[in-house]
Amino acid sequence: MIKDPEIYRNKNVVIAGGGDSALDWSIYLTDVAKSVTLIHRRNEFRGALDSVEKVQELKNLGKISLITPAEVIALVGETKLTGIIVEKKEESPKLLDTDHFIPLFGLAPKLGPIANWGLEIEKNAIKVNNALDYQTNIPGVYAIGDVNTYPGKLKLILCGFHEATLMCQSAYQKIYPNKKYVMKYTTVGGVEGFDGSKKEAPKPVVKAIE
Ligand SMILES: Cc1cc2nc3c(=O)[nH]c(=O)nc-3n(C[C@H](O)[C@H](O)[C@H](O)COP(=O)(O)OP(=O)(O)OC[C@H]3O[C@@H](n4cnc5c(N)ncnc54)[C@H](O)[C@@H]3O)c2cc1C
Repeated sequence: MIKDPEIYRNKNVVIAGGGDSALDWSIYLTDVAKSVTLIHRRNEFRGALDSVEKVQELKNLGKISLITPAEVIALVGETKLTGIIVEKKEESPKLLDTDHFIPLFGLAPKLGPIANWGLEIEKNAIKVNNALDYQTNIPGVYAIGDVNTYPGKLKLILCGFHEATLMCQSAYQKIYPNKKYVMKYTTVGGVEGFDGSKKEAPKPVVKAIE
């Protein structure tokens, strides 16, 4: 992943991948890097039409070098990366000098150490009680969002927000067992910011319509 684009300033960069991340970063880095080369194993890219067209435009302007259909088959360098070996279909592999190689091949979600916490796991996700508050088999440990599973689970942003809402209500009661929590609509009660400020919707008026 790219955490700080500035490290690529005035450097030669090779990006590999055919999705939105590869397209977006190729576009972005043309204004930062000395050179941007995009390598994809197919001629077709799967991404937002606007991004595909923008890469086409930047390629026509000579700002992005496109190598397709091709694959990066080796990295070259002794103490640091100095190049990559790229193999284009029906051509012999070639060395391409570069300062950075950024493979953007998608996400592979892994639980990592969480898998050994004693949580009940099913299909690489954490089982939760969706009938109540999204707690796991360990009391006080909640799991919300894509990381959890329960019957009928859908990996959607909306579902994650719903789970978060119920989880927060439950966690609040766990942390403050003696406090009574009264749920208020933000449209009625406003929203309190972390800085202590409060934002409220304009109050309704009572006015006749003639
Ligand atoms: C291509 C695509 C399109 C989608 N389109 C839609 C859509 O149109 N509508 C919709 O509702 N949903 C969509 N989704 C699903 C939606 O993106 C997910 O349901 C949602 O992002 C899940 O949110 P989350 O917070 O649970 O997990 P994530 O968004 O995956 O967030 C988890 C975060 O935890 C971080 N993380 C992981 N491990 C660690 C660690 N060890 N330490 C610290 N941080 C860590 C990750 O870097 C990540 O930032 C789409 C998903 C994909 C892949």
